Amino acid sequence: MKILLMGPPGAGKGSQSEKLVRDFDLTSISTGEMFREANRNNEPLGVEAMKFINKGELVSDEITNEIVRKRLLKPDAERCFLLDGYPRTVEQAKALDEMLDEMKSKLTAVINIVVDKQAILERMVGRRVCKSCGSSYHLSFKPPKVNGQCDRCGGELYQREDDQLESVKNRLEIYESKTKPIIDYYAGRGILRNVNGMQSFSEVYEDIKKALGEVA
Ligand code: AMP
Repeated sequence: MKILLMGPPGAGKGSQSEKLVRDFDLTSISTGEMFREANRNNEPLGVEAMKFINKGELVSDEITNEIVRKRLLKPDAERCFLLDGYPRTVEQAKALDEMLDEMKSKLTAVINIVVDKQAILERMVGRRVCKSCGSSYHLSFKPPKVNGQCDRCGGELYQREDDQLESVKNRLEIYESKTKPIIDYYAGRGILRNVNGMQSFSEVYEDIKKALGEVA
């Protein structure tokens, strides 16, 4: 399975993809997480990327395509992967097609999680992420067992700078203008499925599995 998980910021992509990756033994490729990890390791690319990320802006297509290309070439991405947060522009979608063509591979499913704009702000304000391993939680929808502490590694949970109000608004505008057009890009291929994201975590997850069953 080669899956692309799409949806506006706050649609629950991160949490759903964590579970899909575990249950289906997929290789997770999250560009946002790759940038944050590079920043945690003080790599120049990560530090540079965080300047854009913290303002809620997109990192350039050139930098983003390059890290994805390198990641897709690793052996663990050969059989199956889940892309979360990439592509985010039509240019990136075209670059991904070229990469997959070169690798004689193709996407099996594009899952688009659909949520109300109103709900997004509420969701994002409550999101918390582990400083050590990057796992994500939500104060209302997916709280950690111990307040402020990661269930998986015990690391400290924090609110991402780009989950603060001004950044969130910026990210939503960018999603509408740059990322949403990708849905049309994939629409004619028969592998795109919309999933209602205005349900509980497990209902959304079940719908994603159903959609995958139809196309993958
Ligand atoms: P995410 O963790 O997917 O919400 O991504 C966090 C931030 O990383 C985004 O708001 C962007 O600033 C940056 N980012 C992640 N993926 C991409 C991408 N495909 N293209 C450009 N910027 C990205």
